[in-house]
Amino acid sequence: MIAKEQIYQTVTLIFIVGLLNTLERIRPRFPINRRLNLRLNIIAILVVIFAGELWKTALIKGFDALNLSGLLVFDITRKLPGVVKIPLAVVIADFCLYWVHRGMHRRRILWLTHVFHHSIDQLWWLSGSRTSMTHLLLFAAPQIFLAYYVFHFTPMEAGIAFSIGVVVNVWIHTNISVNLGHLEWLLITPNFHTVLFKNCNYRWQVLLSNFGMN
Ligand SMILES: [Zn+2]
Repeated sequence: MIAKEQIYQTVTLIFIVGLLNTLERIRPRFPINRRLNLRLNIIAILVVIFAGELWKTALIKGFDALNLSGLLVFDITRKLPGVVKIPLAVVIADFCLYWVHRGMHRRRILWLTHVFHHSIDQLWWLSGSRTSMTHLLLFAAPQIFLAYYVFHFTPMEAGIAFSIGVVVNVWIHTNISVNLGHLEWLLITPNFHTVLFKNCNYRWQVLLSNFGMN
């Protein structure tokens, strides 16, 4: 049976890809050849979708085996209303993923898990899905832990939180020329992420810089 959160994520993915793919064609940042490595990019997004679910199941089993739910008592965070829990989880997950991503660029062993993601010649929404299995695992672990053990999300809350991750992940890898003005100090843009891809430099952007599996 398909879980409720998977339905949310699938609908969100279809919608956001439809929207951003259209914007890429209207306002491309760089001219790109979408046929270049198309087969590899399609396989990559299928790996993200299916392996992401496998890791989620494995992580939950692993965390349950460690009895994390019983050991960690986060009654305060679990009792918060969804409208507070979701944005809070997004910010905390973003903080965690910033450090995971930073570690991937700083430590050689972790870089090996991430190098496939930076093997992209032409960055657009589909090529941005290139992700190794270990990269997926390292990005999934804090998100699963926060969603199901710290905040005890309901299926709907998990669906919304993970859908935000889907939107951000597709958004930052799009080939769109966009200017968000002062909002760019808070929200990451495709322009900024392109710079990151080319220079592997960092700028601290707390909110939404890494949420999702990029
Ligand atoms: Zn990177």
